[in-house]
Amino acid sequence: MDSACGPPPEMADRREELTPMMGQYHDLCARYDDAIVLFQVGDFYETFCGAAERTARLLELTLTSREDSTGEYPMTGIPVDNAASYIDDLLEAGYRVAVADQVEEPGESPGVVERAVTRVITPGTLTEDELLASDDNNFVAALARTDDTHGLALLDVSTGDFLATSSTSSEAIADEISRFAPAEAIVGPGVDGALAPEACMVTPFDESVFERERAGELLADYFGDPDSLLAGDAEVRACGALLAYAEYARGGVEEDEDADSDGTIETGTQTTRLEYLTHLTRYDPREYLLLDAVALRSLELFEPRAVYGREEATLFGVLDETSSALGGRKLRDWLRRPLLEPARIDARLDAVEALTGDVRTREELTDLLRDVYDLERLIGRISRERANARDLRSLRDTLAVVPELRDRLEGVRDECDRLETLHANLDPLSDVRELIEDGLVADPPIEITEGGVIAEGYDDDLDELRETARDGKRWIDDLEESERERTGIDSLSVGYNSVHGYYIEVTNPNLESVPENYQRRQTLKNSERFVTPELKKREDEIVGAEERADEREYELFCEIRREIAAAVERVQGLASAVATLDALVSLSTVAAQYDYCRPEVIGRDEPRTLEIEGGRHPVVERTQESFVPNGARFADDRRLGIITGPNMSGKSTYMRQVAQIALLAQVGSFVPARSVRLTPLERIFTRVGASDDIAGGRSTFMVEMDELATILEEADERSLVLLDEVGRGTSTADGLAIAQAITEHLHDEVGATTLFATHHHPLTELTDDLEAAFTLHFETTQEDGEVVFHHDIAPGAADGSYGVSVATAAGVPEPVVERSRELVAEAGAESATERAGAGDGETAATDDAMTAADDATTGTTDAPSATDDATTATADGGDVPTDVAAELRALDLAHLTPVEALTELDRLKRLLEE
Ligand code: ADP
Repeated sequence: MDSACGPPPEMADRREELTPMMGQYHDLCARYDDAIVLFQVGDFYETFCGAAERTARLLELTLTSREDSTGEYPMTGIPVDNAASYIDDLLEAGYRVAVADQVEEPGESPGVVERAVTRVITPGTLTEDELLASDDNNFVAALARTDDTHGLALLDVSTGDFLATSSTSSEAIADEISRFAPAEAIVGPGVDGALAPEACMVTPFDESVFERERAGELLADYFGDPDSLLAGDAEVRACGALLAYAEYARGGVEEDEDADSDGTIETGTQTTRLEYLTHLTRYDPREYLLLDAVALRSLELFEPRAVYGREEATLFGVLDETSSALGGRKLRDWLRRPLLEPARIDARLDAVEALTGDVRTREELTDLLRDVYDLERLIGRISRERANARDLRSLRDTLAVVPELRDRLEGVRDECDRLETLHANLDPLSDVRELIEDGLVADPPIEITEGGVIAEGYDDDLDELRETARDGKRWIDDLEESERERTGIDSLSVGYNSVHGYYIEVTNPNLESVPENYQRRQTLKNSERFVTPELKKREDEIVGAEERADEREYELFCEIRREIAAAVERVQGLASAVATLDALVSLSTVAAQYDYCRPEVIGRDEPRTLEIEGGRHPVVERTQESFVPNGARFADDRRLGIITGPNMSGKSTYMRQVAQIALLAQVGSFVPARSVRLTPLERIFTRVGASDDIAGGRSTFMVEMDELATILEEADERSLVLLDEVGRGTSTADGLAIAQAITEHLHDEVGATTLFATHHHPLTELTDDLEAAFTLHFETTQEDGEVVFHHDIAPGAADGSYGVSVATAAGVPEPVVERSRELVAEAGAESATERAGAGDGETAATDDAMTAADDATTGTTDAPSATDDATTATADGGDVPTDVAAELRALDLAHLTPVEALTELDRLKRLLEE
């Protein structure tokens, strides 16, 4: 185990000898032995021994030491007031952090100050505002498994968003996880942690929380009968375990539980309930357009493509005109999960249309939404009793906006159901608002234990205490005047300092006139300070009353906070309405500003349609001055487009824009086009650009084949497939063979809506045989010796020798260009002969497939054939296990597609490596 976590070895074997404080530290380390324990000592969180050495190095802090009767211990401190950024660094270094706060005032009880872990901070369970991106969720995931099903639960502890799903396909689960990009995951028995994306920290946790019975009970405690809420045991296990983990992170685990020894964390029996987790939403991945990790990336949903390099150069970036963090998160969720049902899509589109048409309403709503605080995180903090008075003020200010939002919606709400419902759901929560207005001063301080928080007139006891204090102060204020009169010393003054309290000051020349009841307190250079018994008495009264007033204020504040916490569901309902409104306003702002049109979404049972007129790439059009619109038209009998054209002519932009326009339409957004009509897509697959899996140690070619295998296996008529230059990582002949075989397969077997951009010019001839295939191309012209890109797509294939034209334009000498033209012509003739010689019908297809299989193997391994490759492995690596050999022998090469052959090879290779 890491030397920074767990009880320090130099303490562990002599626990009984330690001082009470170090004993306490030791025990907390033993209890939270998977975390670095930050141990509050006054204004600092201290770490000792191995943890101190590690934190000092990581955080570049000074390593000091603490000495007591039992020894000297290395020590590093983090200031309590400024801990967040240090904690962030510890999380980044892969640690969990258990914050052990002093939970009583020093001296409150005999012996050492009591400390308890008040929260365990992990990457997935952050609630600190400073550590969270405001317009993004921060999810923690749990994965559970029953025989054939994976259950996935996702929770944002800071907002209370809680989702569950399951699938019998582990790929589908991996896709769902990558949609939500959780920061952290816990996994149950039998689950492969590699299902989580690389950026997600997979942490070990007590596996017993995944047990069906235990998980079910905990869930029932929060949400009622889990079986009526969820589909199947895998979901119940995942959700229950995740709840247990969230409770653990909340802190408050019971003290007498034994710390375990196997490096995982045991949960205690008593944890703190998370009252603000009021909803658990179960969903089926099939309700949404499925986007796997590859598509999320290549369609630039949230991550910019390196070429543009600008943060906002993403689909989210161009759509995000939200005013509040709530709206930003809602919009992200919509983009993550585009819809399939036309009715649901139209409900959003109706609202966007209504708001797009009414500039004034939209702008006023935008202005108002700017004043909306993050209600979800606010109520989360209120419920966890971590909210301060400023948080309540923020809540009050936000609630004050709600009636105005309702007013503004008045004019548009009857234009569609969605806005009508939103209007109804904008509950101004007047009771909560009044409670805060009556209870708190208008501008309270952050600190809630030092008074000045509760309003005058809210509580009689408090008012009385304050009156006593004020009375005393008035008496003191008058004292100067009355004592001057009584003593005749004109320069006499009354003052206050924090050490000695109130005093009467008399300068040296007047000391003789000091009355008898003055008692000397302090001698200064030119004066003496005195008190009188009466002054002392008044002072005690003031201090006593003020102290009690502060305590009373704190009590009242906590009461108010609890009372608001009881309204958690209503606040969350309001938050959701505001978030939706903000997201809709954002979509309509973008629609109006960038000239988007409303897409027409037709029934899922209708024949496949995807018609775009004058479409633009939503991201690229924002990054450059002018953009050439291009259309697209797909139907059942026109479903596979082969695109040719020189580099930089716009092929990949075009393909992505087609996918992005469809995706935006299904989000319920207007789209960058003149008109769009479509049947909803169920999946989008992309094989775009070289997405080298360098970290995974696989070659570009292997990655490409892997992605292709997935596409060919899983795509269907309701999928959109984008292929960009497939078969580049190998020789031209292999590449062409693979590309052709894939095109045929997609056309004949898969039937997906497909766009295939290629440099393999002969591919365009395929459209003669494939009845639903067609060609598109980008042209370039030359003007004054310069190549001009028109970015204008046209039917038909590009002139195959465009590379040569570009060479001419670039000033390559004429003889070289001439020779190139000859070679191009020869190559064209050869490929035509090959094709003619291949015969027709089935034989040709099989032959092609065979060639492709062989070539593909060559591309990856340089071995002449699949079988030979295996033989080579024998020579280098000892015997081929009999099962692998048997599988190889049983392979029916004549009936494998190239991709199947490759996949099979890859699988067998893995078997050998195991
Ligand atoms: P290809 O895939 O053919 O190599 P890209 O799609 O990458 O070409 O386009 C190259 C560049 O051309 C893009 O980065 C963009 O700046 C510009 N471009 C592409 N399509 C258009 C268009 N329709 N209108 C204007 N510029 C475009």
